[in-house]
Parts: sequence; structure tokens; C-alpha cells
Amino acid sequence: MTITRTTCPYCGVGCGIKARLTGEREAAITGDPDHPANAGKLCSKGTHLGETIGLEGRLLHPEIDGQRVSWDQAIGHVADRFAATIAEHGPESVAFYVSGQLLTEDYYVANKMMKGFIGTANIDTNSRLCMASAVSAHVRAFGEDVVPCSYSDLDEANLIILVGSNTAWCHPVVWQRIEAARATRGTKLVVIDPRRTETAERADLHIPITPDGDVALFRNLLAHMRDQDLLDHGFLQESVSAPSGFWDGLSPCADGVDEDLRRAFIALFAAHPRTVTLFSQGVNQSTSGTDKANAIINLHLATGRIGKPGAGPFSITGQPNAMGGREVGGLASMLAAHMGFTDTERDRVQRFWKSPTLCTEPGLKAVEMFDAVADGRIKAIWIMATNPAVSMPDAGDVRAALAACPLVVVSDCIADTDTTRLAHVKLPALAWGEKDGTVTNSERTISRQRGFLPVPGDAKPDWWIIAQIAARMGWVDAFDYPNAASIFREYAAQTGFENEGSRILDISDRATITDGAYDQLEPFQWGGASPFSYGRYPTSDGKARLVPVHPAAERKTSDFPLRLNTGRYRDHWHTMTRTGLSPRLSQHRREPLLELHPEDAADASVGDGALARVEAAAGVSVYRVRVTDAQRPGEIFVPMHWTDQQSSGGRTGRLMGKDRDPLSGQPGFKNTPARIAAL
Ligand code: SF4
Repeated sequence: MTITRTTCPYCGVGCGIKARLTGEREAAITGDPDHPANAGKLCSKGTHLGETIGLEGRLLHPEIDGQRVSWDQAIGHVADRFAATIAEHGPESVAFYVSGQLLTEDYYVANKMMKGFIGTANIDTNSRLCMASAVSAHVRAFGEDVVPCSYSDLDEANLIILVGSNTAWCHPVVWQRIEAARATRGTKLVVIDPRRTETAERADLHIPITPDGDVALFRNLLAHMRDQDLLDHGFLQESVSAPSGFWDGLSPCADGVDEDLRRAFIALFAAHPRTVTLFSQGVNQSTSGTDKANAIINLHLATGRIGKPGAGPFSITGQPNAMGGREVGGLASMLAAHMGFTDTERDRVQRFWKSPTLCTEPGLKAVEMFDAVADGRIKAIWIMATNPAVSMPDAGDVRAALAACPLVVVSDCIADTDTTRLAHVKLPALAWGEKDGTVTNSERTISRQRGFLPVPGDAKPDWWIIAQIAARMGWVDAFDYPNAASIFREYAAQTGFENEGSRILDISDRATITDGAYDQLEPFQWGGASPFSYGRYPTSDGKARLVPVHPAAERKTSDFPLRLNTGRYRDHWHTMTRTGLSPRLSQHRREPLLELHPEDAADASVGDGALARVEAAAGVSVYRVRVTDAQRPGEIFVPMHWTDQQSSGGRTGRLMGKDRDPLSGQPGFKNTPARIAAL
């Protein structure tokens, strides 16, 4: 029986999978022992992938206004409508909203079409909601969006600090690796999280930080290291620059952390030069997310805990291919291959693509994009492989905006989502197990995702759909791709085009890979295990930057006196379009729960198991109550997954406002001001 080596479609750990077909739409799934990310291990979501590959609920044929049409009709219609909109209103009147679920080849073609041929940078991705603040922080500190760590650093660290990450639930195979390091080498674990999660319960030290208190805590730790003469002066001299006034500006600030806990944390940090600080959505999904990430990076730079085995600040991504999207320019704020918008970089990208009309400046980021749909600036939007009518902040506004938009095109593998309900045109895309390409995980490892299931109905690869429509709009030669391998070759060539060592992302040695070698491609890591081990950074002077950071302002108000946090459940993923198909995954948590401290439950007169309404400035939703002292008083928690179709309550997207980080544009899904009322 044929076994196909592929990768998991869920989180950014990027586990390798072996899939063996056991029926027409049935497969046995096991971990790939030869994949560097997981060495054969899988979590519950990956293990039960075989239960999610049926055709139930699939979008299998193109549709215009609810009527089935041929691909030729659909392609012609979308191309004509986009061309007419651009002709009448200009390129800034159209947009693509894409997804970390796309493969790198899909992302590459979408980005090339929008930025290089339509001529606007109005392409953004749901990764904006996930890790855009880490990207901004990397660029500020290192000059390029480079994650400076590898999973092997977790094996070699003596101290691991988890910030804003329920790793045991959200990145379970990384968690297993951390647990193995603790068992074999006695690695210490500090968890910084407002909630006492399963991860926090297992820590040597849990710091139940005030939401958005991270900048203050890490700034104070850096000030302490300076005051105790524990900085790495040699490294600072050689490899790091600080703006004038940086050190004088490090005055102590209130971080709300218990004095004994802070002392214990400082002692652990000072004692362990081999420290990895792994951070995730609790850092990124914040109105001060970029400063939080830079506060962590500052500490590592100033103490020389970077570029060495077992040391570094490590942003771990939520989605399976958020990193691949970052590489090929899937964010509105970047060009392709880690290039920005300087004249030199624009000229380089334009010549490489032989582009007629390269965009001139960054485009609309996710929240701005849907605001532009709402106020009529965007008149045609193409949404690929994501469900913004649920997942965007102020999701009700997004639904209203899409309902009034003259043209909404959605390409997806799922027929009925909150977003496809608002589409004029639906384009059926291949799903996991059918599509073919590459993904990049959190440690910069590029792996093949391979198809092993028959192609159902009229479904097509995303890259094919985009290329066909681009060709119909007149750009035939530039989008003449026979297969995914040809796109990968072009992307690889672009990473090396006039690079000359100025960017670390360079996989141009793969630019001549044959179709056969691409089929057989083994996982490989760009930038090496430790890209900054030589102490040089991709900045103009080769030095990393210390960045002044500022504690976040209080967000709660007298009207909304509680702090609302959001997050994942262990066995569900995003809006559950896949995990909801697995009976076993649905057993872990059957419904969305509002978790709150006994004091807050008493104040609101709600008991365990009762229903309560959560109210925020953006909207209202109803949840069943779970009273727990794992929550701090004054702070409540709800999960992110449930949508209109799955539940009459628990629609967390309705509660999230549009407040966002000023640099990254990432919405502050954490620490939303809220209140509760008994039903
Ligand atoms: Fe998939 Fe992430 Fe689980 Fe690995 S840890 S099996 S990538 S969900």
C-alpha cells in the first residue's frame, strides 16, 4: 500500500505525516519519524486527520450567484469583473484577503498578481491576526523577518520561558519536546500567562501576569540585568546598536508582578545563559504586540542570549504556512522574498517579475482592508481559504461590509461558511490531502505537502485558479505555470536575485530543481539552525538594534471593567471547518465556555453551568459559565472557534474590537474590555 509523506495542515509546528490510503476517502495517519519537526510524534489533531477527509460539506463546482457554472465561465466572469473595476476605479479599488492555509506556491502567485500586475499591495492575510507583530519586531531588531531559533534550541536550553503561549494545547509536539528536555537535562520552565493553563500548571514557575503587562516585566528584567552588570558587553559592542537614550530610558515601571515571583524569575534568568523565550499569540494579539516582542528580543540581545545553541527569542506561529506567506510577500506590508518598499527593492522585484505596474507603497492591512470594503473604497475582494466573516474583529461589521460589496469572490474547499454565504462567486479549491506544494514551519523548515487523495469534482489548486484568472486578464506569459514545481523554482530564484548576502532568506540553490527532485524534496531549513551565529545581522551596519519599548496603556473602562482574553481549545482549530468533522476531537470540549473566577461569578450572580452574556463595545455573545480559580479575578476567557453555524452562542468574533498594534496592524484579541450579565 502506498504511503505518502506530507505535513499536518494545522499548527506552525509543521509536523511530518505519513498517510496511507485505506479506502477511497479514508487514510491511516501516523507521524513521520524522519521529519525534523516531530520525529514521528503527532498530537490529537494530527492523529485524527483521517476522520476529516470525507467529502461532506465540500465545495466541488464553481458557482456564480448560486448557479453552477463551468471553470471557463467562472474564470471569465472574475477576470472581467476585476478588470472592469480596475478600469473604472483604479487598482486600489480591489483586494485579495488570503490565508496561512495556502501553500507557498499559492501565496506566491497571488502576491505576484496583485503587487506586480494589478499594481496595488492590497493583499493581506489572516496571518495578520496571528503573528504580524512578531514580523514587525524582527524587522525592527534584525533588519529582516528572521526567526533566530530552531526547535533544537529547545533541546539544548537550560531555561525555557513561555510567554503568552498555552503550548501544551496549541503546539503540542513542541510541548512534548520541552517536556523531554526537562526530563533529560533538567531544563527549567517559566510560564508567563494571566491564566493558569495546563501549560502553566506544569511549570517550575508560573507568573500570572496582568494582561499586556509583558513589556513592563521584560523591561524591568533588562534594567535589573544592567544594574547587576550582567549584560554581555562584548556582544553589545560588536553586534548590537542602541539608539541614544535607550539605557537612560530604562526606568523601572509597574509590572504588577508579585515581588517574590519577580525575584525568582530574575534569579532563574541570571543563572541560565542558555535561555529560549518562546512566545505566541498572548504576545502578538495585542495592541502593544510589537513592543512586547521587542522587549523580549532586547533582553536576549543585551545579554548575548542569541545566536548560540539553546538561546534566543523564538516566535512560534499559529498556522501551518504563516511563515511561507511571510517569505513570498503575503502581507500587505512586505514585497516578495523579504524585500520592502525602498526604490531599490521595488526596482529589483519589478525587473525580476518583468512587472508592468509594481505597487508603490504598502497596502491595506486586514482591518483596514475590510473597513475599505465597508466604506466603498474596495469594490471587489477575493477571499482565499479563510473565513473573515467569523474570524475578523468586529465580525458583524465585516459581514455587513461584504454583504454590500459589489463583488465578493471566495475560493475555498468548504461550501457553506459564514463567508461563502456572502460570496457572489464561489471557486472550489483542493483541500489538504489533495493539494501539492510546500509549507514553512516556525523554525524556517520548508517541507513538501503532498496529495494522496483523488481530486473531487471540479476542485483545483489555488495557484491554478489565480494563474488562470491572471492570464485571462492579459498576463499570459507571467502566469504560465505548468505545475507547483515551476512556481517553487521561480520563488527560489527570486530569493537569490541580486541578493548578494543582503538578505538571509536565500534558497536560490533550489532554483533549478527538477520536477522529480521537487516531488522527492526532503525538509530543509533556510538560514541554517542558527542564522545569527556569526553575530552579523541583515542591517546596514551588520548590527542588531535595541528598540525602546513602552508599557501598554490600560484598556478596561468603568463601563467594561473586566479583561477578556481569547484562545484555542486543545482539539479544535480556527473555525472548526475541519476539526468539527471529527467525532473524537469534538469530545474534548463540546461547547464554548466562559471561564471566570469565583469572585466575578458571585458579583454577576452566575453559577457554574449557568448561561451568561458577555458584552463588549463591539458586540454581545452568550456562553455557558465555567467557574474556576485558574482565572484571575477581573479577567475572563472564551474560546475562538464557534461560528453561527455551529452554535447559537459563543461567537467570540462578535466581541473583538478593531483596536490594533500601531506598527503591525495586528488586532488586540487579548485584553478586550468587557462585562458579564446573568441571563
Ligand atoms: Fe499538527 Fe501541530 Fe499537532 Fe503537529 S503539533 S500534529 S503540526 S496540530
